[in-house]
Amino acid sequence: MGVLNRLLVTGLRMVPKAIVHRFAKRYVAGATLDQAIAKVRQLNDLGAMATLDVLGEEVTEAERARAFTEECVRVLEAIDREGIDSNLSIKPTMFGLGIDEALCHENVERIVARAGELGNFVRIDMEDATTTDATLRIYRDLHARYGNVGCVLQAYMRRTVDDVGALPAEGANVRLCKGIYIEPRRIAWKGYETVRHNFVAALEKLIVRGAYVGIATHDEYLACAAEALIDRHGLPRERYEFQMLLGVDEELRDLLIARGHRMRIYTPYGSEWYAYSMRRLRENPEIAGHVAKAALGRS
Ligand SMILES: Cc1cc2nc3c(=O)[nH]c(=O)nc-3n(C[C@H](O)[C@H](O)[C@H](O)COP(=O)(O)OP(=O)(O)OC[C@H]3O[C@@H](n4cnc5c(N)ncnc54)[C@H](O)[C@@H]3O)c2cc1C
Repeated sequence: MGVLNRLLVTGLRMVPKAIVHRFAKRYVAGATLDQAIAKVRQLNDLGAMATLDVLGEEVTEAERARAFTEECVRVLEAIDREGIDSNLSIKPTMFGLGIDEALCHENVERIVARAGELGNFVRIDMEDATTTDATLRIYRDLHARYGNVGCVLQAYMRRTVDDVGALPAEGANVRLCKGIYIEPRRIAWKGYETVRHNFVAALEKLIVRGAYVGIATHDEYLACAAEALIDRHGLPRERYEFQMLLGVDEELRDLLIARGHRMRIYTPYGSEWYAYSMRRLRENPEIAGHVAKAALGRS
């Protein structure tokens, strides 16, 4: 990233929300569940599946965590009622992980149990490194008791290849991504190529161990490496899917679908769109530049 782009990305916080919204709306399905369902229908028509995500950051009150839990149950019921092809992704800190692991476990269990009744699936996203152990504990327990739940491993974490080895031997379902939080070098690989290398190593180990894998990346190099592994291990279509974020590199999305791979689009919605959109814009300096120009034009 060039120096100018770095400055633009840093300056995003000062841009009025209305301008950020104009550029960020491609990353978010809308503020309401109805808008999210309409977006999922569009994705389904394009040949992609979805995973819905209710936007929200870390929750510090148990009551709010319970409210998010009930909202997720409503999402699962809407998916079932509307007959759309989507599962659900959830962030543990929205369900009380920062308050008490047992509370979070109880809330996530309610969601997974309801999903099970409806024949659906829940993916537990991975957040920063302070949450990794607790998140994997919750995942392992619910996977053993319900089955219809998956976790996420991050290729930038040094522990990831070992974590693959510690997954349930039967039916593990793992999304593999690079990882988005800023972690210390003590625990996380830092080089761009090093993270790619660890992604490929972890992906191969997941395939060999028999896990179902969600290959979550927009990095063409990794899509290419994944195709080579799929081919080398003769992985059938029902053992993996590619996953991408809404609004990011739709050309690569369509190319992978056209090549016969299953594709799932992470589709966030909700009133708390701002923090999520800022993270996405920070990952894309070109768009950050347009946002800054629009803000300057306005002022
Ligand atoms: C479905 C899905 C679920 C995820 N879940 C998690 C999770 O649970 N925990 C977690 O820590 N991280 C998660 N991530 C984020 C992930 O860890 C990475 O931060 C992010 O995907 C960028 O990595 P990349 O592999 O796409 O490679 P990069 O090298 O970052 O990007 C590859 C290419 O895609 C382009 N690109 C990347 N982001 C954008 C963008 N926002 N707009 C436009 N172009 C972009 C880049 O410019 C580059 O050309 C998830 C990602 C996906 C796709």
